Amino acid sequence: MTVRVAIDLALDRLFDYTVPEELEKKLAVGQLLSVPFGHRTARGFAMEMVERECDAKRTLKDPNETLSDPKRPYALKPISAIVDEEPFFSTRLLELVRALAAYTAAPVESVLKAAVPAAVVRPNARAKELYFISPALAPAPVPMTARRQWLYDQIVRLGGGWMQQLCRELKTTPASLKELGRLGLVTIAPRQKRRDPLGNMRRILPTKPLPLNAEQTAALGVISAAAKPVLLFGVTGSGKTEVYLQTIAKELEFGRGAIVMVPEISLTPQTVRRFASRFGDKVAVLHSALSDGERYDEWHRIRSGAARVVVGPRSAVFAPVRDLGLVVVDEEHDPSYKQDDNPRYNARDAAVLRGRLEGARVVLGSATPSLETWRNVAVGKYDLAEMKCRAGAGTLPAVRLVDMSAPQRGDSSGAIFSQDLLDAVKLRLDRHEQTILFLNRRGYSRSVTCAVCGATVDCPECSLPYTYHRADDCCRCHICGGWIPTPKVCPVCGAPALQYKGIGTQRAEAALAKCFPNAKILRMDADSTSRKNSHDDILSAFRRGEADVLLGTQMIAKGLDFPNVTLVGVLNADSSLNMPDFRAAERTFQLLAQVSGRAGRAELPGEVIIQSYDPSAPAIVAAARGDFAAFAKDELSIREECFFPPFCHLAAVNLRSKDLKLVSSWADMYAKSLMKVKGLTVSEAVPSALEKADGWYRWQVVVRSPSVSTIVKAWRWLLAQRPPPAALRAAIDVDAFSLT
Ligand code: ADP
Ligand code: ZN
Repeated sequence: MTVRVAIDLALDRLFDYTVPEELEKKLAVGQLLSVPFGHRTARGFAMEMVERECDAKRTLKDPNETLSDPKRPYALKPISAIVDEEPFFSTRLLELVRALAAYTAAPVESVLKAAVPAAVVRPNARAKELYFISPALAPAPVPMTARRQWLYDQIVRLGGGWMQQLCRELKTTPASLKELGRLGLVTIAPRQKRRDPLGNMRRILPTKPLPLNAEQTAALGVISAAAKPVLLFGVTGSGKTEVYLQTIAKELEFGRGAIVMVPEISLTPQTVRRFASRFGDKVAVLHSALSDGERYDEWHRIRSGAARVVVGPRSAVFAPVRDLGLVVVDEEHDPSYKQDDNPRYNARDAAVLRGRLEGARVVLGSATPSLETWRNVAVGKYDLAEMKCRAGAGTLPAVRLVDMSAPQRGDSSGAIFSQDLLDAVKLRLDRHEQTILFLNRRGYSRSVTCAVCGATVDCPECSLPYTYHRADDCCRCHICGGWIPTPKVCPVCGAPALQYKGIGTQRAEAALAKCFPNAKILRMDADSTSRKNSHDDILSAFRRGEADVLLGTQMIAKGLDFPNVTLVGVLNADSSLNMPDFRAAERTFQLLAQVSGRAGRAELPGEVIIQSYDPSAPAIVAAARGDFAAFAKDELSIREECFFPPFCHLAAVNLRSKDLKLVSSWADMYAKSLMKVKGLTVSEAVPSALEKADGWYRWQVVVRSPSVSTIVKAWRWLLAQRPPPAALRAAIDVDAFSLT
């Protein structure tokens, strides 16, 4: 027998090995194997078994020719060992992996790598074992001193414990405990100690299912009856999470497990707590902030079936849950579900696929569904459950649009805060209620511009202006992270006339502090959250009422639930609308709707003020009215007319090089070749919206087609015909989320 193994080398090919007879019976696909590779040993996953007969038909172009002696191309090496007899991937999970690799035009190894944490696969990964001391049940009589007797009694009282912990708590030494062991009073043996990411949360109070309201009951009914994925379209605060919880509970009753995917940014202790307090130890979390040990243990608890409910970001779609009954994708529209590196899969779509492969229900939840999903509902691919009212306390907030192009106050903060917004903030300060202000730009001011010649101070490595940061008086590039001390004179004309244009969070914070010297303001953006935990610290402080105003970037836009917030202000609603991207209007609508959802979550009524220089833009008007259906109708008709997703699939061929001529000429050649393929609509090669980043010139060819496989086939064929030279990087992004 021959086994085909995927080794993590990003070579986009599998390697064949023979299987020694003594391992043949134990070998199964999905297992982690250890195999000889060149002069070393490598690890890889068993992908499929093939019969020896097939081997004879292979030619010298066989994938193994570099591996084995060129004169004896059929001499395959045997695998060295099966690392773990329990497969890492079920056959269905392997099927999902293969399908995603094909869909995204990525090597299978890269999908496997995304699917299982490195902390689980690496050679030194193992469970943690510590000495555990348990009291003997009926110890033989031994001479007892008073101290010995006391120690023994304490251990009996505690029911045993870890060596280290007992030493600490009973103020004793390992030697004394070992002596008890020698006397047969206790047994000392290594035992697995679980590294529990929820360790400090396990004692949280369990919650009972809430009695559902009419809309929630109807939604649960739709989900139970559905034979297709269900879009749970519920306004913020409509109680979607409670619906997820009760759907999961049902699955657990039937002995099935569940995966709940949430965007990484909303994977806060708050979210996790809601699941853990309902399902206790059955919950496992997988996210980027876990230690390797925690990730190892959580993953194994899932595979062994000890954990039945997995909460995690996009990679959770691959969690080896047994008897999967349900996959929930919360905030299904969220861009973070799309991985922006190889493999460029969309975890929401992967969830739908996994559901189909495993016969599991799929629930996609959102207050602002993606137009792809909305369209799938319209054409009958997905079912719809809708919840229009807030559950529990709280009503949807009143939304007011303020036209910033109308004349504002003459003082320096007039361009940042309208009088309406300042009055509203003042009211909250007087009433001791809280305010959230949202501004999609960190730093102090957007750019540094010369008043004489109009030049901006740009990053030389990237094609974008620097952002001025006042705290350390420097100019930072938000693309490459490079910085320079703020120049005193214009780098182009030399005039000492540099001005700060645009508004960043730091400047807004300073201006607000000037207007309200007594207000306590917290700022949350990538600069204020670079320390570990600072993200949670800021939110907790705000929740405890330690500040009146939380001012931040999109980090604060979603998922958070603050009962005392009664005002949400959007300082500049247009910033995302002016992005050169076909999804700009959709993003703007989502962002505004999500931000607005932060107000009035509890008893206190909420108000939202949206400042805009373009208050008649359809996305802004619809968001202010909270009218998703109207927005979707308008936007879909535009997309259909222009042949954009969801009416086609769109892939971006992204090329980059340090050599501008090279990248532009190859982009041009690729575009012209793709244009000849039937069934593709191909744009001219153009510089990307971000033309240069980190010293790399970036070009793009946009390919559209009703069929993804037509796109992928054409691209693979082209790559084989015209492989890019070493100085050029070429990658395809199927179903690209953004074209920047
Ligand atoms: P969503 O996920 O749709 O934004 P949540 O699940 O966070 O909404 O629910 C919003 C609030 O309503 C929460 O505080 C939740 O405890 C409460 N809630 C949800 N369902 C009910 C219910 N059936 N009865 C009372 N309160 C509810
Ligand atoms: Zn830069």
